Amino acid sequence: MKKSFNPSLLGATLALAAGILMPAAGVQAQQKFMTIGTGGVTGVYYAAGGAICRLVNKDRAKHGFRCSVESTGGSAYNINTVKAAELDFGVSQSDVHSKGFKGEAPFKAAFPEMRSVFSIHPEPFTLLARPEANIKSLSDFKGRRLNVGNPGSGTRAAFDELLVAVNMKISDLALASELKADEHGPALCDNKIDGFFYGVGHPSANIQDPTTACGAKLVPITGPGVDALVKKYSYYGYATIPGGMYANNPQATATYGVLATMVTSSKVSADMVYTVTKAVFENFDEFKKLHPAFANLQPKNMVADGLTAPLHDGAARYYREKGWIK
Ligand code: GLU
Repeated sequence: MKKSFNPSLLGATLALAAGILMPAAGVQAQQKFMTIGTGGVTGVYYAAGGAICRLVNKDRAKHGFRCSVESTGGSAYNINTVKAAELDFGVSQSDVHSKGFKGEAPFKAAFPEMRSVFSIHPEPFTLLARPEANIKSLSDFKGRRLNVGNPGSGTRAAFDELLVAVNMKISDLALASELKADEHGPALCDNKIDGFFYGVGHPSANIQDPTTACGAKLVPITGPGVDALVKKYSYYGYATIPGGMYANNPQATATYGVLATMVTSSKVSADMVYTVTKAVFENFDEFKKLHPAFANLQPKNMVADGLTAPLHDGAARYYREKGWIK
């Protein structure tokens, strides 16, 4: 018999083959998709989302969920997009998480359906400067060019709060550029800006690149304004970027920071949130190895710290099974 390549027959053959290859399709859970909103590809959120999805997808045949990651503008964008039900999960700074839940600036309205899943790595606010700019503190940026973060980033929301706390105005800067995180390192090394501000976990490829490529210097963020912020808001804490973590920066750098958190909405199914939560904690040693910024994570802190919105039912179910919450 002559083989036919009639496209309609070929289609029928493929459909038949698919049926043969997936005999359990009717029995097994149908393929369900979940998406996590992260940040720039050189940051740590993107790596965190990738690590979480990898662990979820490992057991795809069992639970039927396929997880994917989206690179986004960062924390506030992620919360707004989870709210719009266009993302199932988003990574967000704990300060932006609190503001998003309550509806404080940069948000226009509260998001009472917002839910916490867990917190992840610490994010010290990081100020990086061109070595030639001879900058030693945030106030040295007066009259200079500083990248303050793209609108929608948690970086930007935190910078706006910091400026007020240290009695500076955006007009004190010669240029307040709003480049995305993936663009600020190259801009610094190309002398388009004198520095940038970024809330990010460490070590991060985003900081590794400019410190290696053009000797960029970490600048401490300290003083009475920062002390007042840390005292006033529970989501802020003091932080140190260890000396020697980055090339050309042998000194430890004092600053303050927040935690990265994973958020979702009460409209996302408990099944989906349980699946993600279980994937991370059942494979916790593997998770910690997927990025150096996760090396010191402890489950007991991740279920409690930095979470303003209530735990999602699906996450709470897993934590109760483990006896981590009541
Ligand atoms: N904390 C940053 C923000 O929301 C993103 C950091 C990252 O992508 O690792 O703006």
